[in-house]
Amino acid sequence: MRIMISADMEGATGVTWTADVAIGTPEWQRLRPVFTGDVNACITGLYAGGATSVLVNEAHSTQRNILLEDLDPRAVMLTGKHKPLSMMQGIDSGLDGVVFLGYHTAAGLDGVLSHTYLPNQITGVWLDGTRASEGRLNAALAAEHGVPVLLVTGDNLTCDDANDYAPHATTVAVKECVSRYAAICKPPAITAQEITTAATTAMTHAGRTTATTTPHRIEVEFDASHLAAAAAVIPTVDQIDIRTVGFNATTMTDAMKAFKIVTAIASGAVEGSYG
Ligand SMILES: [Zn+2]
Repeated sequence: MRIMISADMEGATGVTWTADVAIGTPEWQRLRPVFTGDVNACITGLYAGGATSVLVNEAHSTQRNILLEDLDPRAVMLTGKHKPLSMMQGIDSGLDGVVFLGYHTAAGLDGVLSHTYLPNQITGVWLDGTRASEGRLNAALAAEHGVPVLLVTGDNLTCDDANDYAPHATTVAVKECVSRYAAICKPPAITAQEITTAATTAMTHAGRTTATTTPHRIEVEFDASHLAAAAAVIPTVDQIDIRTVGFNATTMTDAMKAFKIVTAIASGAVEGSYG
């Protein structure tokens, strides 16, 4: 049973603030061991439930956050950025399940540190007409490869979101959202127990499913017109209104690659405080 953990940081235990997830800050350094603790709690539970190998794929920012020296030695870690499938690199390698650890809600919605890929320049993403979090996008990619989503952790609103896009997944709310920058947080000693127990339970759903490849459409709304114009330079991307672009792809894998290009070009066009 080969499992991958896609590990993001905004939904980790104790994280509520920009500095908590901003690379190089003292707050980020303080929370790296806590984030690593969530990952280790998950690995413990996955092995107790029958996993035989676990790949941790770093999914936050520079994708260099988890402390390898503290990682459960039964797992291996894919660390560093510039991966074709980014948060989901490794999904195409015959996995039996994927965990979305430390995830968060979608851009434009309530939830601790809510966003979709870019921290605030994207105000909404829609997958086939439904507003999509990173979890919803990544679940569609997993489905295309026949890989079930086993467990999702994050704030309570992230768990509500997961119950919609992955109804068979187990969820753990490590904090209760009070605002986009505030939450009632459970201490790591408690969330570790809850994540371990949930990961063990979730393994009962592990095992490959039928891979289903279907065409998809993604639309992306930005907070400023020039970002949409910049993204629409891509030949397969259309500007559909002043701040929104859309594109079609024959597979979810291609849709996510195109989405990665759209976000890269748009983030390159962000100019100082005016965005
Ligand atoms: Zn994220």
